[in-house]
Amino acid sequence: MLEKPTIVEKWQKKNKYGRPGTALSYTKVAIHYTGQADVPGKNTVSYFNNVVANGYKVNGKYIYASAHYVIDLDGTIYQLIPISERCYCTNSANSYAIGVEVATTGADNHYTDETYRSMVHLCAWLCANKGLNPLKDIITHTDVVGKAYKLCPIYMVKNPDKMEQFKKDCNYLATGKVAVNQIVNCTDGKGKITTVETNSAKKKYVKVLCNELNIHKTPDFEASSVCGIVCKGDVYTIAEEIQLTGTNMYKLKSGVYITASKKYVQLIEK
Ligand SMILES: [Zn+2]
Repeated sequence: MLEKPTIVEKWQKKNKYGRPGTALSYTKVAIHYTGQADVPGKNTVSYFNNVVANGYKVNGKYIYASAHYVIDLDGTIYQLIPISERCYCTNSANSYAIGVEVATTGADNHYTDETYRSMVHLCAWLCANKGLNPLKDIITHTDVVGKAYKLCPIYMVKNPDKMEQFKKDCNYLATGKVAVNQIVNCTDGKGKITTVETNSAKKKYVKVLCNELNIHKTPDFEASSVCGIVCKGDVYTIAEEIQLTGTNMYKLKSGVYITASKKYVQLIEK
């Protein structure tokens, strides 16, 4: 299980404008941007906790807004609301989504290296924590409300290939294919992405479960192809699995064949 990222707690008091205390069991993680490039995320934390939460009117109407998390330009992750409670961040998705506000930089509102890494770590952890799939369960605000309503986070909406890479990076991290310090910021315009070891495929072995078991020189169970006997507890490296009608066989590294029946052998992957 992926280690939880370091969180700075900035709990918002219970209030009707941002933290109503309604229970949440999330099935999606929604990312947002704070709206103005190069403004520290801690300003957004203060706005939610010290302004909106006290009752704040714009054009005569109270603002209802909050987020579970805000990620700052230096990668600091602030948490305002427990993940077991709803926030007011993602419109109709508030009943099922975690809301993550992220500070951005530059004219195109991309992410600093520190911010990007924290965003991947947090979103991957939020998915792993609930058994969600980062490739389909991380969404943008715009995925919920549509482009006519809001482009949020604007960089990801305008660069859908980067959003896909971000979700892949979250998946690599959640499934242990990379470590946090191997995550590469794909949004900085340098064209680099996270690299994953491709030969990380697990080796397969077969362990003999019965006292004596035939091995065959050809992939069939004929008596004439038997070329030897292996014993209980023996372990052999599998070269490939041979699809046969009825019971499959494993071709072993040594070139001989053995039954793939779970009655007689156990498959071990490591
Ligand atoms: Zn948003």
